[in-house]
Amino acid sequence: MHPVYMDHAATTRLSEGALQAMLPYLREEFGNPSAIYSYGQTAKNAVEKSRDRVARAIGALRSEIFFTSGGTESDNWIIRSAARTKPGRHFITTAMEHNAVLRTMEQLKEDGYEITCLRPDREGHIGPEQLEAAIRPDTVLVSVMLANNVVGTILDIRPLAAAARRHHVLFHTDAVQAVGHVPLNVRSLGVDFLSLSAHKFCGPKGVGAVFCRLPNKLIPLLTGGGQEKERRSGTENVPGIVGMAEALEEAVGSLPETVPYLTDLQERLIAGVTVLPGVTLTGDPQNRLPGFCSFVIGGIGHSALLVNALNEQGYCVSSGSACSAASREASHVLLALGYDEYAASASLRITLGRENTRAEVDGVIEAIGAAVARLRREQRKPPFAR
Ligand code: PLP
Repeated sequence: MHPVYMDHAATTRLSEGALQAMLPYLREEFGNPSAIYSYGQTAKNAVEKSRDRVARAIGALRSEIFFTSGGTESDNWIIRSAARTKPGRHFITTAMEHNAVLRTMEQLKEDGYEITCLRPDREGHIGPEQLEAAIRPDTVLVSVMLANNVVGTILDIRPLAAAARRHHVLFHTDAVQAVGHVPLNVRSLGVDFLSLSAHKFCGPKGVGAVFCRLPNKLIPLLTGGGQEKERRSGTENVPGIVGMAEALEEAVGSLPETVPYLTDLQERLIAGVTVLPGVTLTGDPQNRLPGFCSFVIGGIGHSALLVNALNEQGYCVSSGSACSAASREASHVLLALGYDEYAASASLRITLGRENTRAEVDGVIEAIGAAVARLRREQRKPPFAR
């Protein structure tokens, strides 16, 4: 039997539609989009059509979409571009961002920039007044994620983006976890930049995009052949871009069915796990990504023990974000939310996808109950999450 996959915030299976859309561009239509003969033009048309589809799915113009190798590159590109195109020495972000944002900010700090890291509240929210108090005359950019990848909270970034705009400060949102999972429109959010990544919404890995309302604020980080209107050189990942556009259209088009389906599974799982003593749901109980379940579980030692125990039972779940899963450090996100080291190293993240069923949810609830009881016996620790 195949293991049951329940880690959709880490990555997702390529959809059948995306696979079929990509296949011709891997073999028959293999042309380089920069070439002027027919193979090249077919590939170029596919890239431009995909740009249009990605733009429409998030309410943008096609001239505002630039393709990248994924979320990490998109975040890096936007932040580093802002530093080079807008005067000022100050950046604002939050302590619960993905490392693609945090580590980039850390590098800017080494280059002499000052970084203010806003502290979210216990559920993962940032208030507009909190942001406004941090904005300075020399602030270049504010970067606040749309949905958190460890606790699943969906942030209300609209008032944050409005506050930044009032002060003539650029605003970026890392929407890697949100795009394709919740309805989203860049205009109504009011953001200047947004990052997205295909493998989080059943598209291929290694491809993503930047939405940029002000394309003159994007400077080339990769120089060379001048692709992407001289802004991002390198022969385009044609199959990846085509697969991303197809997957995004599918994901956005099926939101009316997937959101209630995943919300039902999510409520079932959260109810089934939080009846155990010493278990706390992390993040915002209401405003959370559909299918996203995250807990701290007292008395189990490190969360890797629970993840391993569930793996042995045939369930693929996560201790937190995929990038830090192998490390035994406490989650920086949970620490930022005010959990102590003990709780922040005992987290469990189960992120459901449209391929999961109620029977699988019931199965994992039972497996968690048994594994937690066993680990607590072994650890002899009190079952209290602090
Ligand atoms: N930002 C967030 C919030 C993420 O969850 C991730 C991936 O986990 C990334 C950025 C990085 O995206 P990619 O894996 O496409 O580089």
